[in-house]
Amino acid sequence: MSTRIIPVDAFDFVVFGGTGDLARRKLLPALYHRMQDGQIPEGSRIIAASRDELDSPAYRSLVLGAIESSVPDDVRDTELLERFLACCHHVTVDAGSELGWAALADLLAGREDRVRAFYLAVAPRFFGPICERVGQSRLVTPKSRVVIEKPMGRDLESSRLVNDAVGAVFSESQVFRIDHYLGKETVQNLMALRFANALFEPLWGAAHIDHVQITVAETLGVGGRGSYYETAGALRDMVQNHLLQLLCLVAMEPPESYTADSVRDEKLKVLKALRPITIENAAQLTVRGQYMGLSTARDRIPAYTEEAGVARSRTETFVAIKAEVANWRWAGVPFYLRTGKRLPSRVSEIVVAFRPIPHNIFPAGSGAVQANKLVLRLQPDEGVKQWVMIKDPGPGGMRLRHVPLDMSFAEAFGIRNPDAYERLLMDVVRGNQTLFMRRDEVEAAWRWIDPILEAWENEGTAPNAYTAGTWGPTRSVALIERDGRTWHEETV
Ligand code: NAP
Repeated sequence: MSTRIIPVDAFDFVVFGGTGDLARRKLLPALYHRMQDGQIPEGSRIIAASRDELDSPAYRSLVLGAIESSVPDDVRDTELLERFLACCHHVTVDAGSELGWAALADLLAGREDRVRAFYLAVAPRFFGPICERVGQSRLVTPKSRVVIEKPMGRDLESSRLVNDAVGAVFSESQVFRIDHYLGKETVQNLMALRFANALFEPLWGAAHIDHVQITVAETLGVGGRGSYYETAGALRDMVQNHLLQLLCLVAMEPPESYTADSVRDEKLKVLKALRPITIENAAQLTVRGQYMGLSTARDRIPAYTEEAGVARSRTETFVAIKAEVANWRWAGVPFYLRTGKRLPSRVSEIVVAFRPIPHNIFPAGSGAVQANKLVLRLQPDEGVKQWVMIKDPGPGGMRLRHVPLDMSFAEAFGIRNPDAYERLLMDVVRGNQTLFMRRDEVEAAWRWIDPILEAWENEGTAPNAYTAGTWGPTRSVALIERDGRTWHEETV
């Protein structure tokens, strides 16, 4: 079964950095799958721009390689692939000079009435210069949009500069700030579960929810991204964007409608309600870690400092935070956030832990009654599990068991689970900003993050060391256990 589609008119999709890693691993395969599902009309063009002196046939060979290594053999189809390659073009353009801009303008000329997307899959230092030259070359049409990826600055001030540079050329309704977590099926399902069911909303708040956990764990280290990572760290790289966006979707009030500004208005209120973490309380509410190397009989995993090529570093590769949304609905409910590299498994999930039952009527020997949990898993296999207590089947008295009502989306609906970029790239073409961050949201997130960075700077200490392959420093366990709670671990 293929996914249902909303048809669009033929469009031009310009990818600055169309030869880079993001384009090859994510953007091109996503567009290929959209063509497979019949969503890319004839006449649409994917125009890659980079400094490489590739002509379009040479670029198509690069695209072919990207599709071959990302799309499984059984999903590839020769006729489709040829059609897809025919859409792809390359123009040699330098973001930092005049080179190639006239050629790009020539290629785009005469199609001013169609949707024109500019995807900036380049280092953030090029966001401003590219927008400026796009503006000077008169490439911005009423139906133009620009897409930017993280990192959008490294603090509030630098993020304002990025937004100012982009905003000087594109209006806010044309700017699509992508956070691919928002394109994940499970994340959108969180909205459906909350706002398309009467079941959850009456329970959604401090009266019935004990706490929330958001974990984004990676098994890999920083690899070749060490020099970038040294300027970022886990708080900037993951918490400021992905984890806070997930927190917003859990905590926000029901928007007036499922439209971009209604949803983003509610997310913004959550960000503004986050209780500040400052020099006074950062030591109690945050944990920083950095992975050490590990040698086994067969293998050797390098330490962060080795991968980053530095002798010493205070950059955190792990962070855990006890956050609070200080408003009427959530006061007193901790939101435990944790993310890190070189952890034991690759998992991203949101755990909504309900309060325990007020009184147990079952006799001793029935088994412990455990509190309900709603677990939304974003990766590796997207799906939702509602943990409930049931009676163990069969005779022999009342024995209670904690089991998940399991719904794996791909299995339940018999469809290929689309990559988040597929949904998001087509939203760009459709002009739907609901799953993209507005400028004030990004800045409100930095406004909460900056004092944490400042407090750490002020502490003047190094992050706590943790061994690669463990769940971070022991202080992360203490952060939650001193509240009488534990990090969620899947047992079924
Ligand atoms: P990358 O592999 O280094 O690719 C960079 C691209 O930019 C190349 O196509 C490069 O081609 C082009 N480029 C560099 N300088 C240029 C210039 N002066 N003018 C025009 N084009 C230029 O980087 P990436 O991993 O794809 O990342 C791109 C952006 O996406 C970064 O901001 C990154 O943080 C962000 N991002 C990446 C990922 C990912 O999975 N890779 C995920 C999230 C966010 P030439 O050198 O030939 O010009």
